[in-house]
Amino acid sequence: MNQIIPMTRFLRQNLSTITSYRRIISMNANQIRFCSQDKRNDDTKTNRKQIERENRDRRIPVELDTSIRYMKSDAFKETYQDYKIWELFRRNFKGQFSPAVPRLSCVGDDGFVKTSNPCAICRDRYLVLHHKNIELLRQFISPHTGYVYSNSILCLCHEQYEKLCVAVTLAKNYGYIDFEVPHRHYDYQYHYKL
Ligand SMILES: [Zn+2]
Repeated sequence: MNQIIPMTRFLRQNLSTITSYRRIISMNANQIRFCSQDKRNDDTKTNRKQIERENRDRRIPVELDTSIRYMKSDAFKETYQDYKIWELFRRNFKGQFSPAVPRLSCVGDDGFVKTSNPCAICRDRYLVLHHKNIELLRQFISPHTGYVYSNSILCLCHEQYEKLCVAVTLAKNYGYIDFEVPHRHYDYQYHYKL
């Protein structure tokens, strides 16, 4: 079994950039920011480069069991606290308005993360989208409607959003996730006339 590494540095750094927007709003987010800054001073330059390269590496995918255990672990709670995975994520963009079209993929052809601002799922290697990973899928489903949130809210890349939609549909079909069938209204007056 693979050992779960608590809070990858890449995720921390990424959260630090995101949380700067929420500095005044939430104290929890601030703690993550300071945490990442303290750790950064300990390492030498070469070590830092190696760790950064390892964190960007997505050539060997994480197993499903590991991901399911990660969702229940203390490392997960420490990283995201009470927020949902996508809640503190902000996509970087140039200019005044956010781009209407999502990025095609955060991972390049060589298997490494190619952007410095990967989406909420690509930035954490332990998040594996699968129809059996229910804890993860529930984060993206609205409790009011039962549907997956729009990608304008989630800001995932196109590849991961497609995987998410497929996983949620499969989970509903296999019965892993409960959902309500929409109410149908029948006009019985039409039948009485016949
Ligand atoms: Zn992505």
